[in-house]
Amino acid sequence: VSAADAALEIADAHQHIGGLGSALGSWREPALGADEERAQRVAAMRGHGIRWAVIQPAHAYDKADGIAATRRVNDGIAAYRARDPEHFPIALGTVEPSHGERSVEEIERAARELDLDGISWHHRLQGSFIDIPAMRPYLRKLAELSLVPFVHVNAESRLEAPWQLQKLAYEFPELSFVALDAFYSYEQTNEVLFYAERTPNIVWDLGGPYVASLFAFIEPAIRSLGAERFCFSANLSYLASAHEERPALLGAIERSGLSREQRENLLSGSLRRLFPRLAKQTAEARSGGRGDAREHS
Ligand SMILES: [Zn+2]
Repeated sequence: VSAADAALEIADAHQHIGGLGSALGSWREPALGADEERAQRVAAMRGHGIRWAVIQPAHAYDKADGIAATRRVNDGIAAYRARDPEHFPIALGTVEPSHGERSVEEIERAARELDLDGISWHHRLQGSFIDIPAMRPYLRKLAELSLVPFVHVNAESRLEAPWQLQKLAYEFPELSFVALDAFYSYEQTNEVLFYAERTPNIVWDLGGPYVASLFAFIEPAIRSLGAERFCFSANLSYLASAHEERPALLGAIERSGLSREQRENLLSGSLRRLFPRLAKQTAEARSGGRGDAREHS
């Protein structure tokens, strides 16, 4: 972390627990025990100066047991947070669009029994388009329970075409959505910035392998729409993608002419605002943050 941004809190919006080995033919990752996995993840975060992260399941989990499998995954993410709430204060569950109305019960359980903060979807790994009819009862339930929807709009999947998310955001103005994987290509970057101008209730995660080279196109939108409409992630989406080099996006944000307040919003402020659990900590984080002091002592 550069001296200029040393005091800014960095939070990562996009970390999956688990891998994609059962979904992607070329995926390789080491099999790690739970403790070792968490230790590696926290070490990678520390290396990049990341104070905390939002965690969600990997959506390519074994679904052979139907909704019981989904329950196990949601139990697992709650347990993961419970082991280290300082680094992982925000945990999201998931539900399967293919389970139709039964997923509404699981959303309710995720909120009331597991105290999860939101629900995430990666539709291309869940065999569905973003805007299928079942999403409406889910989103109504999220609104009722004050949960935050996270939706992947990967540029390489038409199942996840971002216009479908925009449609849902229009239908549910009471919800604030977080869009993941939006900036994975030049064409889609310009497409989603067009939507961003017209859809105030989507926060766009800036993470992605190419975003630093696209940042010059995104920066004017950050200035005109507000930094609170964008958030940061560090390409630690999967532990297999962890690397020692500093995330190029951090450098792009520092080199930009964005104000300190704008950078603070990008790096953690816009995420904090979404979650009541964290809103009350904001003042403390801004005044220096005890977490950092402990980590570096
Ligand atoms: Zn993801």
